Order: sequence, then C-alpha cells, then structure tokens
Amino acid sequence: MTSHDAKSPWEYGDETKAVHAGSQPDPVTGARNTPIYQTTSYVFDNVEHAADLFNLQTFGFIYSRLTNPTVAVLEERMAALEGGRASVCASSGHAAQFLTFYTLLEPGDEFIASRNLYGGSITQFDFSFRRLGWNCNFVDPIDPENFRKAITPRTKAIFIEVLANPGGIILDLEAIAAIAKDAHIPLIVDNTLATPYLLQPIKWGADLVVNSTTKFLSGHGTSMGGVLTESGTFDWAVDDKFPSMTQPEPAYHGLTFYETFGDFGFTMKARAVGLRDFGPSMAPANAFYTITGIESLPARMDRHVKNAQAVAEYLETHPKVGKVSYAGLSSSPYNDLAKKYMPKGAGSVFTCQLKAGYDAGVKLVEGVNLFSHLANVGDTRSLILHPASTTHRQLTDEQRDAAGAGADVIRLSIGQESIEDLIHDLDVGLSKV
Ligand SMILES: *Cc1c(COP(=O)(O)O)cnc(C)c1O
Repeated sequence: MTSHDAKSPWEYGDETKAVHAGSQPDPVTGARNTPIYQTTSYVFDNVEHAADLFNLQTFGFIYSRLTNPTVAVLEERMAALEGGRASVCASSGHAAQFLTFYTLLEPGDEFIASRNLYGGSITQFDFSFRRLGWNCNFVDPIDPENFRKAITPRTKAIFIEVLANPGGIILDLEAIAAIAKDAHIPLIVDNTLATPYLLQPIKWGADLVVNSTTKFLSGHGTSMGGVLTESGTFDWAVDDKFPSMTQPEPAYHGLTFYETFGDFGFTMKARAVGLRDFGPSMAPANAFYTITGIESLPARMDRHVKNAQAVAEYLETHPKVGKVSYAGLSSSPYNDLAKKYMPKGAGSVFTCQLKAGYDAGVKLVEGVNLFSHLANVGDTRSLILHPASTTHRQLTDEQRDAAGAGADVIRLSIGQESIEDLIHDLDVGLSKV
C-alpha cells in the first residue's frame, strides 16, 4: 500500500475505530449519527427475497430478534475493536455467555474455567449450566498448567478473565492460549474489565471473546448488553468435537454452519439458532447508547487507569489498609504480566484489604460520600462495594476466598472524577474505620 491509498476501516487505529467502525451516514436521510431503528420487522422486496432471507442465502433484515440495523453497527464496531472477524450482540453479558456455550456444547460436555471470575459467571456456570448438562471444572488459573491438567476427552473450551474481578490478577494469556491450541479447544476470554482498548485477547491467541457492554463499553451506567466476538481462525472441522458447527442443522434444511459461513460460522450459528430460539437480543436503543459510549472509550479508559493508579498508590501507603491488589502497582506480583498484556494500564477495578476486617469494610462503604455503594463496575462514577456481603454472597467461604473476595476485601471501580476529590473521599471514609 502506498501512503496515498485510502485505508480500509480495519487498518485504522483503535481511537478511529471507536468512532467510525461499522457506521456510515444513513443512506436515506444522510443522518450522520447511527439512528435508533426502533422497529421489530422489515418489508421484503418480494417472495423470493423473503425465502432467501429465511434460508440464510442472503444477508438482510427479517426480524429484530435476529438482526437490527442499529445493533449491526455495534456488532461491526466490536469486531473491529477486538480485531476479530464478526460479532453478535445479546441482551446482557450473561446472555452473550449463554449463546457462546449453547453454540459450543452438547449435554454431557465439559469446559474448564478460571476460578477467578465475576461472581455471576461462577454462579451461572456452577448451577444453571450444570442443569443443562454443561459441566464446568474450575481451576486456579495462576499456573497455566492447571488448565492442561484438567483437560479430558469431553473438554470443549477454556474460559478465563485475563484481568479478573475482584483480586487484581492478570493471567498469562499467551501460555493459556497455547494449551488450548494443543488440545484443539477454543479459548474464550471475558474481556469486560479490560475492554478491547486495553487488551485485545485475539492478538494473543484467544478464539472467542465475550464482553459485557453494560460496563465500560456503554460506559455511563445506562444500558445492559453483551457481545460475542469470534476470531475467525479456529478450525471447527479438525475432529468431531463440535458437531453443532459441523453437522447439518435440521431447522435450516440441513445447512452446515462451518461449511457455509466459514470464518464467521460461529457467530452466525449463535445468531441464527441461539438468538432465534432463546431470544436474548439486544434492544436497538441499548445498542445506540453503547455505540455512543464506545466513541469516547479510549479517552475514558485513559482517564480511568490514570485515576486508578493514583488511588491505588494512595491506598497502598494508608496505615489502615493492608494489601492493595492493583496490577499497575510495582508491588503487585502481576505487574510484569500487566506490562506485557496491558501496557496502556491495568484497568480501573481492583480490591484492597482493610486491616480491621469485615466491620471495617462495612464502615468504609457507609462512610464515603462521593463513591456510590452499588454492584456495578465501569461507570463514569467511582463505585465501592463489599463483595462478601453482595456480589459474592451466594458463594461459599472457600469459593469467596479463592475468588479474592474474602470478608475484609473492598472492591473499587475508579471513575473519572477529579483525583483529589476521590482521595479526599476515601480519606474521610477511612477516618471512620
Ligand atoms: C458484569 C459482568 C458480566 C455480566 O454481564 P451482565 O451484562 O451484567 O450480564 C460478566 N463478566 C464480567 C467480568 C462482568 O463484570
């Protein structure tokens, strides 16, 4: 390419993609911003067009449970940002996880998950998925070899959060990807806490990426959503492990998703069967808010990590605070991995331990003013939470400790306020402990 050729959208930098990928001026009205296509259905050109659409022989819009033009812009933007081939949106992060596993697994199959996950994911995998016959084995992810040891002939995937919530750990993504590759199973990364601005797991060997767009991507605490992105490089046909991708689909006249759609066959299947039959589609208005949020993702993430670093450094020197588990601190055992995988910053969600234990945690949460006490992360506002009494409440003590959410642990999600105000607020709260 000479310097005078126009760039293809996939060659743009992340900041450009965040603003432009997937969106064009509206062809009918010229509207520059992506309109909210608040419609359930779409008129067919004629009977033949309708038949082709239903048979998946042409691309187009039928019904918003499957595809919607506003949601489609978000799907393309996310695929571009993650460096993947294609994406499919869902009504929430958990719905995206459901679609992923529904597309991968048969009843009786197994997958291996890091035990350091979002509490809701542990519950989803450990209880509800088991009832569907999808068996999850949790392992300590710090030593990648633990994944290899847990692989059996029925293992169909490995699921991790590279930057894990809570606990401030960073996993050795490249090493885990190599183990998945050896076993010929896909590596799925939940990239919610890092976002594709700070980490692109596909570059390091991940095959599927899920994001809860509810958090940093929509970014303002306004809209639920999730998205599944596929790398397009996993070969589903090497052995008989993934019949859902390689066997004829009776409800589409025997169509085979991998053969027909190739490098975007997985997201096609998740959409054409998963969304069709279970229906957790993203609302167009939520897609609109998320598209708008993503436009400022790079600027917001830069601010989030700068504030998080400053707060973590402040807490680390406070006499009432024990360990601060932020991977951006040079004292963190994960600092080298953070530098390797997340050079722009180690996110803005981390935990600290209070020396005085459970009651001190309750006093701090109740003593701050600017920090909101609530169960979310990735808001523009700073948030504080005591996981043991909220998000990780359903877990056993042992699971809680393993997930880095013991009784003395406080979780912070650092927002975009003035750093002096955040530190002052924590100072006030800690004075009551
Ligand atoms: C919030 C979250 C989820 C679940 O997403 P929802 O949109 O709430 O369903 C999954 N993983 C992580 C890391 C999260 O923070």
